Amino acid sequence: MSDFFKKHKKNIIYSTASAILVLAVVFTCVFFYHESFNDEILGVPYTHEEFLLPEPPPPVEVPPLPQPAGRFVAEVPDQKTVYLTFDDGPSPVTEQILDVLKKENIPATFFVLGKNVEEYPDLTKRIASEGHKIANHSYSHDYKQIYKTDDETFLNEVLKTEEIILSLVDRVSYSKVFRFPGGSFEDYKWSKMDVLIENDYSFIDWNCSNGDAEGHDIPPEKLTSKTIATAGNKNAVVVLMHDAGRKYTTPLALPDIIRYFRENGYVFSTIYR
Ligand SMILES: [Zn+2]
Repeated sequence: MSDFFKKHKKNIIYSTASAILVLAVVFTCVFFYHESFNDEILGVPYTHEEFLLPEPPPPVEVPPLPQPAGRFVAEVPDQKTVYLTFDDGPSPVTEQILDVLKKENIPATFFVLGKNVEEYPDLTKRIASEGHKIANHSYSHDYKQIYKTDDETFLNEVLKTEEIILSLVDRVSYSKVFRFPGGSFEDYKWSKMDVLIENDYSFIDWNCSNGDAEGHDIPPEKLTSKTIATAGNKNAVVVLMHDAGRKYTTPLALPDIIRYFRENGYVFSTIYR
């Protein structure tokens, strides 16, 4: 071993010295790079406005409450919360609705129909990609098909729609909450609630409406005033609106509706589980 050392002494010394030299150069470079980087950041005068486009304040999103299957509980303790919901889409007005929501940076829940998801797969994907939740509103929306038949036919409407949606978007965008076409109010729908619960579904109606189901071509101001009147001073507001071709005034009223809830201390959340 010592013979080997003597024989190669010079080489070993040169190699070690070279290695130390290389390391010193590398450390020096890294040090000066950092220094100059800091100088650049600190030295360049810039204003906030130059680098950031003006954006509305981000909404405080309330995390979904862990809850079992059953009637969905929208109440969030000590927090005024509003849930914007759009039924019956996707449709020719979905893009306008999404444009407003994007501009305002607001999340919403879309209760879609399986048959319309089949017709508008790209819109369905866009809804999910912009952070909204997609929930189930049956396949056909045909009351006779959904309610006047056996439970299996009803369940098939729900599961078929689920399958179509999940072929396009991730589970994280799909909410296992059903909205009964026409609401859950009539007692002949009660047996269907059991079917939903057995299949790990929740359901939800609404406690506020923009009134766009009451006719066509309703002026946006009317939709806004109806929303404000029916919201009252509730802590949890679930707003029913429609995403349908003939409801083209619905997206036009949306900016004022959003402004009203913002100014009154509500946070915007989604119906999700
Ligand atoms: Zn509907």
